[in-house]
Amino acid sequence: MKIKSAEFVVSNSKVEQCPNSALPEYAFIGRSNVGKSSLINMLTDRKSLAKTSAKPGKTQLINHFLINKNWHLVDLPGYGYAQVSKSTKKVFQKFITAYFEKRTQMVCAFVLIDSRHAPQKIDMEFMQWLGEHNVPFCIIFTKADKLKPKVLEKNIHNYQAEMLEIWTQMPEFFITSASTGTGKDEVLDYIEAINQQ
Ligand code: GDP
Repeated sequence: MKIKSAEFVVSNSKVEQCPNSALPEYAFIGRSNVGKSSLINMLTDRKSLAKTSAKPGKTQLINHFLINKNWHLVDLPGYGYAQVSKSTKKVFQKFITAYFEKRTQMVCAFVLIDSRHAPQKIDMEFMQWLGEHNVPFCIIFTKADKLKPKVLEKNIHNYQAEMLEIWTQMPEFFITSASTGTGKDEVLDYIEAINQQ
């Protein structure tokens, strides 16, 4: 898919305030610093469509971008566990879970994972939550340029092995680098294929 246009639409913190539009949308989510803003800018050929290196504590917003006038790219905040008083139960921030529960236009979530790191509990639990709520998702391994090819291959292999202890099959996954553009065509073509269904 060629990116012909990419426009910021709106930021908000409530799913009810997301655009009243039936266009298909694709959500990008991951822990902070995973490389989400850099990836969004790389995919859309824009230097600063998404703001990179968000400072911790900044307002957590759902950002909608209109791409090629026919689909929405949604930049979701970095996820974390919300505090639940008088309970040790871990839950994700409510507005993130509400987005996935209510936003029926959401076609596929891209869960970003830093390719340098071993599987992290919070990412695993988040994907489990998506699975339990029937939310379609793919994995994007980011920052591939930071690793030697053999190490990258080993890390992805280890990740797959750990996923397969929980899942019957590995979700669709992509390997990307915002620095070199690796994986750009694959991710955009995947989105285009779904849009054409
Ligand atoms: P976000 O918090 O998930 O939006 O992450 P950012 O996009 O702001 O990236 C966090 C840091 O990682 C920044 O210093 C980026 O320059 C760096 N970074 C992000 N993606 C890549 C990548 O693909 N390759 C390299 N080498 N650095 C990256």
